[in-house]
Amino acid sequence: MRAKTKMIHGGITGDETTGAVSVPIYQVSTYKQDGVGKHSGYEYSRTGNPTRNALETVIANLENGTAGFAFGSGMAAISSVMMLFNSGDHVVMTDDVYGGSYRVMTKVFNRFNLDHTFTDTSSLEAVEASLNENTKAIFVETPTNPLLKITDLEKIAAIAKKNDLLLIVDNTFATPYLQQPLDFGADIVLHSATKYIGGHSDVVAGLVAVKTEELAEQLHFIQNSVGAVLGPQDSWLLMRGIKTLALRMEAIEQNTKKIVAFLQNHKKVSTIYYPGIESHPGHAIAAKQATGFGGMVSFDVGSEEKAEKVLENVKYFTLAESLGAVESLISIPAKMTHASIPADRRRELGITDGLIRISVGIEDADDLIEDLEKALD
Ligand SMILES: *Cc1c(COP(=O)(O)O)cnc(C)c1O
Repeated sequence: MRAKTKMIHGGITGDETTGAVSVPIYQVSTYKQDGVGKHSGYEYSRTGNPTRNALETVIANLENGTAGFAFGSGMAAISSVMMLFNSGDHVVMTDDVYGGSYRVMTKVFNRFNLDHTFTDTSSLEAVEASLNENTKAIFVETPTNPLLKITDLEKIAAIAKKNDLLLIVDNTFATPYLQQPLDFGADIVLHSATKYIGGHSDVVAGLVAVKTEELAEQLHFIQNSVGAVLGPQDSWLLMRGIKTLALRMEAIEQNTKKIVAFLQNHKKVSTIYYPGIESHPGHAIAAKQATGFGGMVSFDVGSEEKAEKVLENVKYFTLAESLGAVESLISIPAKMTHASIPADRRRELGITDGLIRISVGIEDADDLIEDLEKALD
């Protein structure tokens, strides 16, 4: 089955008992047992719920994994994956990871002595130099947020394999339609499904897919023990979102191409960060490991004041955190999504105060361009 067909027919579809074409929302906590310990595969909805299970099967299919897991948010997914490790273990992470991933490592998991090093994972030498004898995993985000840096998944997977480490990939920006990290040797792929997978700004959720049965068993144990599961209503919403993920990504990418071309010709815009641009340092790698460059673009307008002016004057771009929705969104990472990263650290990373990030939606590209044109003027 090809990717587009998987989004419609993958996983568990419909309901065998009634013929319902849509998977029913099993709004249930517990299940009647025929005898003590004799049940039909479901006993309690933290452990397993048919609606969640249908979603978990779809994400496993889309990512070419052996099993999928749905969590109450992207951060719940990331935190649950981090619970695979022990006190004293060390994780190497992409340096400009999502602000929440940075925060949970530096303010929460540090309290349990889960050690970390933030590294520019687009540099293989930097990754190798960050490994120590306690390193157990490499956690990569590609493309990154908000600078759209690209990590070579195949090469990082080789480093992970050579050193007996797990490779974990946050695939939120690329989506399972454009990029399947498990195929390049990753062990675990995860998503903030709040973004493109949900796609309609109406659900907060996280998804994980794993490569091996062993990891599937370990992560199910953690999911059930820690309990950060996604409810049946939200699981259903995500399955609905997945049905149009391919179409949305194609529309988003077409719009993004036009907007990037407009920004490249605008004199008030300096640096543009988009892996689809040939001069982007990660362009060739992105083209090799993904079937598209996505809908996230960052660009610099020079100062915080100017960036705020643009945000005040746009009409169709909604000023909001988050990304990946049908509606175009606009933000200033330094003040919003990345505000939890200390200012000097942001400066080191290149997240300037004049940096604007847009998440392109599926409106008419001409309206979006007119909107940016007026706001930039
Ligand atoms: C939003 C986001 C997260 C966190 O997901 P939530 O659903 O907000 O908890 C993690 N990684 C990336 C890349 C994100 O954009």
